[in-house]
Amino acid sequence: SEPLLQVEHLQKYYPISKGFFSKSQQFVKAVDDISFSVLKGETFGLVGESGCGKSTTGRSLLRLIEPSSGRVVFDGEDITALSTEQLRQKRRDMQIVFQDPFSSLDPRHTVQRILEEPLIVHRIGNAEERKKHIHRLIEVVGLTKVHLQRYPHQFSGGQRQRIGIARALSMQPKLIVADEPVSALDVSIQSQVINLMQDLQSEFSLTYIFIAHDLSVVKHICDRVAVMYLGRIVEIADKEKLYASPQHPYTKALLSSVPEPDPDFRPERIILQGEVPSPANAPAGCAFHTRCLEAMDMCKMNRPQLIETELGHQTACHLFGE
Ligand code: SF4
Ligand code: MG
Repeated sequence: SEPLLQVEHLQKYYPISKGFFSKSQQFVKAVDDISFSVLKGETFGLVGESGCGKSTTGRSLLRLIEPSSGRVVFDGEDITALSTEQLRQKRRDMQIVFQDPFSSLDPRHTVQRILEEPLIVHRIGNAEERKKHIHRLIEVVGLTKVHLQRYPHQFSGGQRQRIGIARALSMQPKLIVADEPVSALDVSIQSQVINLMQDLQSEFSLTYIFIAHDLSVVKHICDRVAVMYLGRIVEIADKEKLYASPQHPYTKALLSSVPEPDPDFRPERIILQGEVPSPANAPAGCAFHTRCLEAMDMCKMNRPQLIETELGHQTACHLFGE
């Protein structure tokens, strides 16, 4: 499969004021030089603790946030070079599903109106065609026509996320960035929504970027997973490789906290010391060195690059490579 999306050296820096007498401008490096590609039809997981830059990355890919630098090539076109009007056209193909279906649906509007609005904005179809399209949409996400006349507050969390997904689908996109789509839902509802997303993926040939804060949620849905720490990608691997033989010490720690029913496969729990440092003050060298049990002297000075350690596996750690 070929790439649908190529992200090259993406950065998002936010300026912070360091006080009146400070001469040098300081920055929060929310996304600090990351590169990856997403293949057509796959589900690419982006995983890390809160503040690691995964949501900023997701939004930067769609230019809902303007990247500071880097390129985002989507379907052969550099998104970062598009004018506002060109971007508006391109957005039809790239949609986002937000974590919180409670705040992302306008409470004053019926579901009918919520689903119809993007079609009107993009001047798609006449009233009759839009109506048909919306009837189909509400059914493919497991709701019914009756639901169209109701308001968001009349639905459960899981139903609201189904509406959020229907809205993202209405433009018949190629890519959906799902930013923690099930994190706000009860565990029992999470797998229903994930199953629905998987069904929709094959039915509509969708490519997903699935953002999550732990590795258990993405275990079943993702084909490949990238692990982020303090604005950087520390490891990318095929799912099987990542779960069976993780390389980066941070990934190992994250994985050791994933619930594993079978004690034979349960890794020893690795408890990381200390808090995640502030992205405004990321450690030099390997940003993980302040918490890494395997840190060496060089880790404090030299930033490890993401390198291919074996086929389908990239890691940014001085324990790997030359
Ligand atoms: Fe640990 Fe060094 Fe590897 Fe960073 S580069 S993860 S500090 S061993
Ligand atoms: Mg987030």
